[in-house]
Amino acid sequence: MPDIIQLLPDSVANQIAAGEVIQRPASVVKELVENAIDAGATQIKVNIKDAGRTLIQITDNGCGMSDTDARMAFERHATSKIKSASDIFAIRTMGFRGEALASIAAIAEVELRTKEHDQDLGTFIHISGSNIIAQEPVSCDSGTNFQIKNLFFNVPARRKFLKSNPAELKHIINEIQRIALANSEISISLYHNGSAIYELNGSNKRVRIVSIFGKNINQNLIPIETETSLVKISGFIGQPKHARKMFGEQFFFVNQRYIKHPYFHRAIMQAYEKILPPDAIPSYFIYFDMNPADIDVNIHPTKTEIKFENEQAVWQILQASVREALGKFNIVPSIDFDQAGSVDIPMPLRDYSDVQTPEIKVNPAYNPFEQTASTKNYSGTDRSFAPTPTQRTNLSSWQSLYKGLEPPEYSGSQPETPADEPVQFRIEEQQTAKSSVQFKNKYILTPVKSGLMVIDQKRAHERILYERLMQVIENHEVASQQQLFPETFELNASDATLLTSILPELRALGFDVRDFGKNSFIINGTPGVLHTSSPVEIIESLLEEFKNSPVNLQEKARETVAMSLAQASSIQSGQALKPAEISELIDNLFACKTPNFSPKGKKILSIMPLEDFEKLLK
Ligand code: ADP
Ligand code: MG
Repeated sequence: MPDIIQLLPDSVANQIAAGEVIQRPASVVKELVENAIDAGATQIKVNIKDAGRTLIQITDNGCGMSDTDARMAFERHATSKIKSASDIFAIRTMGFRGEALASIAAIAEVELRTKEHDQDLGTFIHISGSNIIAQEPVSCDSGTNFQIKNLFFNVPARRKFLKSNPAELKHIINEIQRIALANSEISISLYHNGSAIYELNGSNKRVRIVSIFGKNINQNLIPIETETSLVKISGFIGQPKHARKMFGEQFFFVNQRYIKHPYFHRAIMQAYEKILPPDAIPSYFIYFDMNPADIDVNIHPTKTEIKFENEQAVWQILQASVREALGKFNIVPSIDFDQAGSVDIPMPLRDYSDVQTPEIKVNPAYNPFEQTASTKNYSGTDRSFAPTPTQRTNLSSWQSLYKGLEPPEYSGSQPETPADEPVQFRIEEQQTAKSSVQFKNKYILTPVKSGLMVIDQKRAHERILYERLMQVIENHEVASQQQLFPETFELNASDATLLTSILPELRALGFDVRDFGKNSFIINGTPGVLHTSSPVEIIESLLEEFKNSPVNLQEKARETVAMSLAQASSIQSGQALKPAEISELIDNLFACKTPNFSPKGKKILSIMPLEDFEKLLK
């Protein structure tokens, strides 16, 4: 039998390797900008056409390359950054594997112009699909200029796999953001189809963060600074109360390299424990500086995951410094979401307030409908849970008053678990109006025949708005309420791209928002069904909800936008409701097709059976 094993030609090997390093236009941008940084550039310009499909051009004022180096740079495993394996453990450059240029040249058309500062003439090289088409002297600026054209021209599968232009551009913006945040002293600009997305001058970290995320972020940044023999930690964390407003920007950098680190993320989340509004993620920009020997950056081709030698120790130092920073800014003691607004101290007990230790203990896990909580929470000393006199009066009259609301399928004393099919409730109008009460500004309590129904007010309102918005879409009955004074607003570049990509869906819902250029927008009208007074805030929270939405955006963009919009514009937990609003909410909820579940599938209501009340008071 003849031998069948052959060495792959370099061009094929490079194409295969390219699959690991270059997944999309943003990967090319990342590799080339990192090379520019490694070359000592202080100014880097990125110029993109059609989200990188047609052109990616990177110009730097770094050291440039000689004509032989320029040619060598495209060979696989060609690098100026390491000489032996042991060098990897002292690496301070972004690259060192020598595969980026070989990979890019294998799957695109590359034109390179480069000149060293002490030379008069530079070098021009043209490569297409690993083939050298030309190499000749050229007159050009000192530094390096790469033009990458027709990316993936010879890998149709990859080309087909690319997402829409806004989606690919978003990836590019994300890469630039990370690199710009990691290297604030370097001037970086990004242009797309001729218009500027970023023009960032070299600055300190704070100024860089502000110029990327907008000036509103400035007052929310709490500095963090710790130095130990193992690691130096610096940067900023966001104030807890702005955790949502800041669009959840989380960044870790190690030796000026952006990394992902879910384990360290948890260290931060734990430091913020109990001081964050529910579901909010704080922003953070954390810079670790450490001896390269204590980390391994070579565990992943794109080097966004790295291994720490002393991971646990770094974890603890990180958590302690975040705690300290929060403490220094008086954030820990001054904020207590369990107390704020939600605890009603009953009137007759106010007299005790000047008797020693007027401490209010709150059990955050307290659920009035859990049997086990009953004895403990109603014991005399814990005033926060004592029923108010008015509540007591209501309690006695509820049973007789509210007989109209009945879940026919409810049976026995098992906790209610809504089935897939929506449970139908029979509602008698005049009764709901008078009988329902709001509890902790969060729930609505409504007696039904078999017990007491508790409704989550926010989720209920989300459901109502969602069904209305979907109706607008399905029946094409767009009604836009014109703004008396059209509002303009500005977003950071990545949110601006996201908003641009969902403008058609927003219009279909009655949101008249237009791109005003330079990441700013103008709102001329809002959906008639929303009655909103602060459309800009709605847009901002809409984007936030949209980003966190699990639904596939491309296929179900309209539903996702409707869902996010419903969430963004619904009444909030903690909002006091007037009796008329309560009954309107209940009426509208039970007019919905699916009153049991929020658009995202969370339970809206549950019933506490009468028997449980009896057990509670045994
Ligand atoms: P690596 O960055 O891992 O060394 P690359 O394939 O990205 O590998 O680059 C190969 C080599 O080309 C680099 O080691 C460097 O010497 C040179 N090079 C690449 N880009 C530039 C640039 N913008 N300026 C100067 N030299 C560069
Ligand atoms: Mg490189």
